[in-house]
Amino acid sequence: MQTKYFVVDKDEPDLKMMEEAARLLKQGGLVAFPTETVYGLGANGLDSEAVAKIYKAKGRPSDNPLILHIANQEELVPLVTSIPANAQVLMDTYWPGPLTVVLERSRLVPDIISGGLDTVAVRLPGSKVARQLISLAGVPIAAPSANTSGRPSPTSAQAVLSDLEGRIDGVVDGGDCYIGVESTVVDCTTPVPTLLRPGGITVEMLIETLGEIEIDPTLGGSVECAPKSPGMKYTHYAPSAPMVLFEGRYSRIEDFMLEEIQRALEMGKTVGAIVSAETAQRLPENLIVAIYGQRGQTAEIAANLYTALRSFDDYSVDVIYAEGIDEQGLGLAVMNRLRKASGYKIIKV
Ligand code: AMP
Ligand code: MG
Repeated sequence: MQTKYFVVDKDEPDLKMMEEAARLLKQGGLVAFPTETVYGLGANGLDSEAVAKIYKAKGRPSDNPLILHIANQEELVPLVTSIPANAQVLMDTYWPGPLTVVLERSRLVPDIISGGLDTVAVRLPGSKVARQLISLAGVPIAAPSANTSGRPSPTSAQAVLSDLEGRIDGVVDGGDCYIGVESTVVDCTTPVPTLLRPGGITVEMLIETLGEIEIDPTLGGSVECAPKSPGMKYTHYAPSAPMVLFEGRYSRIEDFMLEEIQRALEMGKTVGAIVSAETAQRLPENLIVAIYGQRGQTAEIAANLYTALRSFDDYSVDVIYAEGIDEQGLGLAVMNRLRKASGYKIIKV
């Protein structure tokens, strides 16, 4: 199939192009589109056959449920059985934006969306292009990240095409995503809402709004018990070569990384490194280096993370060493993705 390509302005998308993309969705097709977090791969969320195509195109395991995207808060009502007060507060505070709420699902939501669960995940994205496309399609849009399953999520239309060109009906190119990591997923069916996936809305913000928040125990490290957000159990966000993550204090990470890199080079390996601008200055020359940003600039690091991970695709590196960052603010989401990308091969220093 030929993938149609629509370039639009992110603030004033061309209506004709948007209507054409929405028509593909209404016909049961797959269209990738930008949100403020990452590019999503959209399908009519009320059409099981269309949704099945998402799983096929991505190679996504069928027990990993999808998020439904809506364009207005009122569109949530028919999708769920009730809206708890905590969920309402979260939506009033952070919608439109990078927050996904998990609620009890109504019978309108097809089984295939929820991967066998009684709940549904819903988000009202901040991106104007995303909201306009959903509005024009006139239905909730199921949209996981628009990458091949297991790969880093795409934050540009180019990254979408490199994974899915020829496998999907269209891509709306609205430029790069400015947050760069996926939405925060909060389960609002528990008495105190539970964080299932860290993302664009930080834990600090959630605590400020709600007073308290539970953290899903499987978020901390390698996953032994079944996580409540099924997607979190899969290896994910991984670049094309094995990756080792260093965690600890900056100064110690830098020294230990340099030592490990030296050892790998002496063994004749082709080595990649994903690091801060500061650490990059100390690296030897014969490396493939991806810089994710300045130390401490977590928003910048989040925005650049997936492009940096994907940059190794063009080289055949044997191993990638990654510099961990502080977990405050967006740092928690960044470290969650780096840990998963490394398959939990972590060196604590
Ligand atoms: P993606 O859209 O590819 O970034 O993945 C969506 C994430 O939301 C995955 O981690 C899913 O497991 C999670 N998710 C979707 N629906 C639910 C649900 N009903 N309950 C818990 N987690 C969900
Ligand atoms: Mg994903």
